[in-house]
Amino acid sequence: MEHLPTTRSVELIDHLIRLSSVRDRDSLLHCVTQALADTVSVHQVEIHSLVQDEDRSFWLPLTRALAGSGVRFLSDPLRSDWETMTPVHQEPDRLACLDQGKMVQTIPDMGQPGHLTRFPVMLTGGSHPWGVVEMHSSAPLCHAEVTATTRLIAMYGNMLDMLDYSECDALTGLWNRKPFDDLFYKTMPLVEAATLAPTDVEHRAAPTASFWLVMIDIDHFKQVNDTYGHLIGDEVLLLVARILKSSFRVYDRIYRFGGEEFVVVLRCSGHEAAVAAAERFRSSMAAHEFPQVGHITASVGLTEIVAGDSPLAACERADQAVYYAKHHGRNQVCSDADLVRRGLLQAHLKTGEVELF
Ligand code: GH3
Ligand code: MG
Ligand code: MG
Repeated sequence: MEHLPTTRSVELIDHLIRLSSVRDRDSLLHCVTQALADTVSVHQVEIHSLVQDEDRSFWLPLTRALAGSGVRFLSDPLRSDWETMTPVHQEPDRLACLDQGKMVQTIPDMGQPGHLTRFPVMLTGGSHPWGVVEMHSSAPLCHAEVTATTRLIAMYGNMLDMLDYSECDALTGLWNRKPFDDLFYKTMPLVEAATLAPTDVEHRAAPTASFWLVMIDIDHFKQVNDTYGHLIGDEVLLLVARILKSSFRVYDRIYRFGGEEFVVVLRCSGHEAAVAAAERFRSSMAAHEFPQVGHITASVGLTEIVAGDSPLAACERADQAVYYAKHHGRNQVCSDADLVRRGLLQAHLKTGEVELF
């Protein structure tokens, strides 16, 4: 049986130690891509993740490492759009690897150099398909290389599971409050690039994108618990999470902030589109027939994330808009900009301080 040379084995252990020491998804992705490129004789490693909407699935290319050079991030989930993603069925071999949950070696076509070996990345003990690692090599991978790759990917899957465990809400599977600030600050370079002067337009990262913070609070939820019990209340929260997922896009991040409060960081073209997205959720929620309980509504507040903003300031502005909605009939969407324009809220000079009339 072939073994990895001793130096490679030590390197592999070093990579595993490094992998287990990082705490954020980008660093983890960078580490595992580098580890795979260093451990196995390949000329290219790529990682693609599966992105699923309500009824569509796409491949999102994440990283690439070429032999002898560093890791490159191929797309930024914050900027990705459907147009840049490949529908899953356009890569049937990749999909087959994920469906089978095992390594698949592709025999090269006549005249085509190189071998392509795909490895699935599965989460939660192999039950949840996450993505595929593609290794391009001039010769088929040897047994030791396949074993090392499988181990590294298993370790990566375990680390992702651990991050999910600490960053996701156990009841709804949505993000919890913990990773919110981090994502908020990640949007800042995009927010700032989009507000560059028109003369700097060629340097803009995403000229049409703006980011919005949408805050949602279920109306009279205490009554649901008091009338039908906590278990039914939990069931409602689960269904609300489903409505949220189907109302917003796959690249919008949905959080359960606690209790019956949810936050969405929305990327869209402007105020009108943000209000329309929030309204789409509000009306779906109001129209939904919740088992046993019937109809339940939500009050929604939204605010634009602006250059120099802070998570606290943006949350306070959205919260004021929710507060206004609550005190003016509930089951409605209010934007802080709209309320300020109509003279119903006063914006103070310092971002985030708004006063309710
Ligand atoms: P409002 O329309 O003013 O928002 O009224 P409300 O009753 O929704 O608001 P309030 O803040 O008074 O009550 C929120 C309730 O949410 C209190 C608590 O019973 C319930 N709640 C919080 N977390 C959970 C949870 O995890 N599960 C369940 N079932 N209920 C929860
Ligand atoms: Mg509340
Ligand atoms: Mg409430």
